[in-house]
Amino acid sequence: MKLVFDGVAAGYTELPAVHHATLTIAQGEFVAVIGPNGSGKSTLLKTVYRALRPRAGTVLLGDEDVWAARHRDVARRVGVLGQDPPGGYDFTAREAVRLGRYPHLGAFDRLGATDEAIVAQALERTGATGIADRPLSTLSGGERQRVLLARALAQRPELLVLDEPTNHLDPAHQMSTLSLVASLGVTVLAALHTLDLAARYATTIVAIKAGTIAAAGPPAEVLTPAVFRDVFAVDGSLVSDPVDGRPRVLLRELRG
Ligand code: ADP
Ligand code: MG
Repeated sequence: MKLVFDGVAAGYTELPAVHHATLTIAQGEFVAVIGPNGSGKSTLLKTVYRALRPRAGTVLLGDEDVWAARHRDVARRVGVLGQDPPGGYDFTAREAVRLGRYPHLGAFDRLGATDEAIVAQALERTGATGIADRPLSTLSGGERQRVLLARALAQRPELLVLDEPTNHLDPAHQMSTLSLVASLGVTVLAALHTLDLAARYATTIVAIKAGTIAAAGPPAEVLTPAVFRDVFAVDGSLVSDPVDGRPRVLLRELRG
């Protein structure tokens, strides 16, 4: 599903944390939002999944303003992996993933066999089947992160919004998570901290500095020495991996 930010400003105090964000994301793109701590990545994402109402501008999903749509319609179409588990930590992993099916049910419906199969498949795809019956409170950060991704997948959304989905994950799970997400064919908007992972998996990179989109485009166009220096205050290069030829980001401390 196409996603458009048109002049979006959002924040928590008089000073907006995101200014005039304007961006069009085509159906099926994998967009990595990158930027230093506090630059506004999470704030931008929250305007899409209705956690923070923009104070100016509009967010369109397809042709629909997400802030004018019914909450339930947005919940059905947008899968979210945020910073906290919706529903709390008392749920077992499977119960947490079942929550992803609720926007698809009528008010008095219960999960059916199809829903349970979708839940089981989401747990399987994220490698969480073995922990399905454990309470979230007993899981490691990385295990919990995979369950939250399973919940978002079980929603079968048109757009996935992921706030630091690889947080806490070991290297193998960082890569399997991003390649899984990239393989789904849905539009993905993901805040990513690790620039190397952004370069390898995203089709489009959006670099944010102090609440303003500093650069947006394909990885090779955005991950330039100037952007590494101006946005991240590091010395960086985009190179080709000698083994698989895919892009890699090398970072060094900025000198002089
Ligand atoms: P990022 O995700 O890029 O690290 P955020 O979007 O979370 O950054 O934050 C952008 C700015 O908004 C920062 O200055 C941050 O301190 C501030 N901020 C974030 N959340 C809140 C909040 N709930 N209340 C007040 N300020 C906030
Ligand atoms: Mg954040």
